[in-house]
Amino acid sequence: MRKKIIVGNWKMNKTHREGMEMLVHFLKLLDLELSLNEDSGKEFPEIVVAPPYLIVADSAVLAQGWDIKIAAQNCSSEKEGAFTGEISASMLKAAKVDYVIIGHSERRNYFGETNQLVANKINRALESNLIAICCVGETLQERESGKQFQIITRQIQECLFHLNNDQLSKIVIAYEPVWAIGTGKNATPEQAQEIHKYIRSVISGKYGKEISENISILYGGSCNPQNAKSIFSQPDVDGGLIGGASLNARDFIDVVKAIL
Ligand code: PEP
Repeated sequence: MRKKIIVGNWKMNKTHREGMEMLVHFLKLLDLELSLNEDSGKEFPEIVVAPPYLIVADSAVLAQGWDIKIAAQNCSSEKEGAFTGEISASMLKAAKVDYVIIGHSERRNYFGETNQLVANKINRALESNLIAICCVGETLQERESGKQFQIITRQIQECLFHLNNDQLSKIVIAYEPVWAIGTGKNATPEQAQEIHKYIRSVISGKYGKEISENISILYGGSCNPQNAKSIFSQPDVDGGLIGGASLNARDFIDVVKAIL
């Protein structure tokens, strides 16, 4: 059965001190509130926090002994060497990071990341035994001209279809419509379900039904404590990639609780 996963993407927010304080606060709330759900029999999601690089290693130390995982927001497409300013997948693994977000639309838009570069980063992540969260999604213009299925198919083909079955099983896909990220305008539950089901069918076409049924597909884009429950209740939505609402411990806990 596929995993439910909630990922908090802090983006370029929080100093080391602010981040560690927020994480401690979050873990205390988690301990207190979610222990109440322990006997409910409901499947508990994997909780993943993606702080900025400078906080990643200490967050991973803090996360040991708790039931949360740490993600990086990016990694280099290169293994090592003269690439000033870059952080490699193997460095992240050595820092006890488990996940890495790859191909976020902000990286694609502001830093010119192409599907080919995303594919290379995914390769580096898998070589280092990181779980790669591969982000896909259409812009507003693409949706308004009815091209969302075409765009997403291409992103999946070019970012993922070079992987074998075993490698694909280490991938999480995040559907993040660009028009919904940080805009306060989330996709409706029906829009999210339509695309998630479609993504699963594209994966099934290449890798077969069993693999497509086992891959977790997360929704991201203005997901918050108010709208999370209706989005997460869709059959092909396996959790969320949460930006703004993950910056506040209370809100992030409420988003996590929405999937229970
Ligand atoms: C994101 O950063 O991936 C995201 C979905 O942001 P927000 O929740 O703020 O729209």
